[in-house]
Amino acid sequence: MFGLIGHLTNLEHAQSIADELGYPEYAEQGLDFWCMAPPQIVDEIKVRSITGQVIEGRYVESCFLPEMLSQNRFKAATRKVVNAMAHAQKYDIDITALGGFTSIIFENFNLDQIRDIRNVSLDFSRFTTGNTHTAYVITRQIELVAPKLGIDLERASILVCGATGDIGSGVCRWLAHRFPQVDLILVARNQQRLQEFQQELGTGRVLPLATGLPLADVIVWVASMPKGMEINPVELKHPCLIIDGGYPKNLGTQIQHPGVRVLNGGIVEHSLDIDWKIMKLLNYDVPKRQLFACFAEAMLLEFEGWHTNFSWGRNQISLEKMAQIGAASVKHGFRPLLT
Ligand code: NDP
Repeated sequence: MFGLIGHLTNLEHAQSIADELGYPEYAEQGLDFWCMAPPQIVDEIKVRSITGQVIEGRYVESCFLPEMLSQNRFKAATRKVVNAMAHAQKYDIDITALGGFTSIIFENFNLDQIRDIRNVSLDFSRFTTGNTHTAYVITRQIELVAPKLGIDLERASILVCGATGDIGSGVCRWLAHRFPQVDLILVARNQQRLQEFQQELGTGRVLPLATGLPLADVIVWVASMPKGMEINPVELKHPCLIIDGGYPKNLGTQIQHPGVRVLNGGIVEHSLDIDWKIMKLLNYDVPKRQLFACFAEAMLLEFEGWHTNFSWGRNQISLEKMAQIGAASVKHGFRPLLT
């Protein structure tokens, strides 16, 4: 049995679908109430691989909302994550993905120090961030879509916003290995971490976001931002491929410009319909088949019987593990979203 721990995009979104999640009484409630709400299993899932294997899973709604971070409700945010993990473990789920912000909160607030949640002693080997599969999918999206736009990856400038993050560092390692000539532009806020990462990578240049954006043929957004930001497409190169892997999205508004192509980053499409409702509630175009790559990682670990924290800790994503999870992804019928 696999598990998915997730959260909704914002308070407004949470209120609008509370009824469909099975708790209509939450629809009228504000952030204070959501800060108190316990985790709940709101979806039972069945997934069939193209090999014919069938697995079952559960979606645990953590009731975390990104506003808890932007409004400094850190205690509530951390409680949401550990309570959801304890809930998954109580239901005997073998391997559970910590989706979106839940893994970021786990890392940022050192939640590995908290083992005991009421009568549950957390066993971290039952959880994965899913970030190795996400990094793999983003690299495939770059490799498959950029050439179609006429971007030559051997000589392109690629900006990674969130380069020092878990997913960002994995993507940068892969780019540096696969395209040694690439002009890699590393962006984040903490300059010391950027310099250290640049040294570890042995390539790339550190630039402020505003300086780097007009230089980039490909822009990968994997920054942990509770709210998306605005960028002016006119100031970008044309053609420009933008891969927005943030959840919530790093871009605040939809970009419509003939020279700029925006892809939903870190999203996969399964070859067969998945029996669930959660992606419909998250407003995905093809909710029976499209899903976050981190969720798909838990499914892959379950298909393969790898009941282990495959992606764990920060900045540990290796090229070998990306290749390993990538091969499992192809084997079971997942494809990176390319449109
Ligand atoms: P991490 O916390 O490990 O890394 C976040 C990175 O973003 C760091 O480099 C951080 O550096 C940088 N950052 C944060 N805020 C800003 C900002 N305002 N401007 C520039 N850089 C910023 O996060 P993850 O790698 O785990 O996740 C990254 C994103 O991917 C998140 O939005 C997450 O929700 C999403 N995600 C998507 C998945 C999918 O399946 N599609 C799966 C898992 C996560 P610094 O603090 O120095 O700025």
